Amino acid sequence: MRYSRYFLPTLKETPSEAEITSHKLMLRAGMIRKLSSGIYSYLPLGLKAIRKVENIIREEMNRAGAQELLLPMVQPAELWQESGRWEQYGKELLRFKDRHKRDFCLGPTHEEVITDLVRREVRSYRDLPLNLYQIQTKFRDEIRPRFGLMRGREFIMKDAYSFDADEKGAEKSYWQMYETYHRIFTRCGLNFRAVEADTGTIGGSFSHEFMVLADIGEDTIVFCQDCDYAANIEKAEVKSTISPPAESPKSKEEVHTPGKHTVEEVTAFLGVPPQKLVKTIIYLADGKPVAVLVRGDHEVNEVKLGRLLGCNELELAPPEIIRTETGAEVGFAGPIGLDMPIIADLALKGMANFVTGANKTDYHYVNVNLDDFSVTQFADIRLITPDDPCPRCGGRLEFKKGIEVGHIFKLGTKYSKALKATYLDAQGKERYIVMGCYGIGVGRTVAAAIEQNHDKDGIVFPYPIAPYQIYLLPVDVNNPDIARTAEELYVKLEQHWEVLYDDREERPGVKFKDADLIGIPIRVTLGKHLKEGKVEIKVRKTGEVILTSLAELEDTLEKITIDLQPN
Ligand code: ATP
Ligand code: MG
Repeated sequence: MRYSRYFLPTLKETPSEAEITSHKLMLRAGMIRKLSSGIYSYLPLGLKAIRKVENIIREEMNRAGAQELLLPMVQPAELWQESGRWEQYGKELLRFKDRHKRDFCLGPTHEEVITDLVRREVRSYRDLPLNLYQIQTKFRDEIRPRFGLMRGREFIMKDAYSFDADEKGAEKSYWQMYETYHRIFTRCGLNFRAVEADTGTIGGSFSHEFMVLADIGEDTIVFCQDCDYAANIEKAEVKSTISPPAESPKSKEEVHTPGKHTVEEVTAFLGVPPQKLVKTIIYLADGKPVAVLVRGDHEVNEVKLGRLLGCNELELAPPEIIRTETGAEVGFAGPIGLDMPIIADLALKGMANFVTGANKTDYHYVNVNLDDFSVTQFADIRLITPDDPCPRCGGRLEFKKGIEVGHIFKLGTKYSKALKATYLDAQGKERYIVMGCYGIGVGRTVAAAIEQNHDKDGIVFPYPIAPYQIYLLPVDVNNPDIARTAEELYVKLEQHWEVLYDDREERPGVKFKDADLIGIPIRVTLGKHLKEGKVEIKVRKTGEVILTSLAELEDTLEKITIDLQPN
């Protein structure tokens, strides 16, 4: 591609709309532009990187025996009503009516549509197993779209669905996708880990998320330093031993804590450690208030809590509700005298003489004990901490941040039962198909790759997903020698590589800056050494510079190409 003709609007300044590096760089490198919140146009360079990831996905899915199809993005409400998700899905599902006033939605995922297709076509065990996938635009009306392609509302996803005759077959399909995902993300040149993930209401242990390790990741991953346990913090069970409190209970007392709302403020004011306080957090579970109690230094795990309550929507109660339910300003809620279900974390069983809010503005209780109020249910509802032991081996835990680029999940018969997708087994008996689903965020994968591979000058694309492999840079196109050789090399190199040819009449400084920003793995510069028949190769990743003769250029490039492949 000739740069002079290319629609590649790079930016010198960092746009103020971007918070994280990958988003800034994708805007600066002219890969994407925002149309509306969470909705982006992919410009040629950005689309090319996306296509690279898609091709890797396609090759590996096909290798695993999956078949590509393409399902509609617009989906009728009836199917979602059949699965029960029309009501459950919440506001991320963008619903609308057509001209006949019939309800539709934009597909956020395709379990319903694919199950409908398969139930109509699959009759017998001979038609199974099947693994069908598509690479398609999804729409989810995310509450907080951000970080560019990382969390968009409209985004490209690869979604696959497996259909098996029995559990054993479904597990085999699952582990095959587990392997396939390892191959895909390895080929994309990413530093990633597969971690155990929550299986929600389906249960079982067949759900893994593929996490790209990066500090800006929205997920926290828990690793064991002593065994191979790795899980999303949402999933990690707390297995700390709780011993009964050593102190004998005292009588509770109301104390004046003017303007002290937070755990830090209250404990500092009272001169006690946060472990001596119980936080009372009021949630709305499908609209109904529930009080949740956790130790001052612990945090609620909303995924565990939501699963325990079996609700579709769980949100923090807004201040108005807190005021009417507790009779106090936010920050003074406590379990004593509260008229709603109370769920307490197991750690409370080890506590005595603790601090709680008094349900009265500017007041707390001290020396509260479990006998002072009634708990509806004790359960593990908190986030694991680095002080807790590994739930598997009791070893030491380490925490890291990750970006979820892929997710695999054994669905079992959830959708086949709801939509009555059955087949006839060898004995002619009707059985439910056992399903699995497997997603990859394509745009998010590109963004995650940039998050992991950049330096102060710009993107450093992993070779396999780089939009071009070679950046051909004649420093002065008005020098006839340089211009002629550049034209010849462009034609020649294009036979083996995708070449971005910077034929612009720009100052060398501008060209070098753009080359670094765009992050093409190999730069070939034609400059002052051309008089001696030499060109300069620079490897973007290592900064290594190699001076080579024109005759040896292609061999040298071949070698570099091999070195740049991920292991
Ligand atoms: P998240 O927890 O990040 O919202 P999810 O659990 O909702 O993700 P899935 O339903 O499992 O995601 O979707 C499969 C994949 O699609 C995810 O692993 C992720 O890579 C991608 N994905 C999901 N939501 C978005 C989004 N809003 N923008 C970009 N990619 C997304
Ligand atoms: Mg989501």
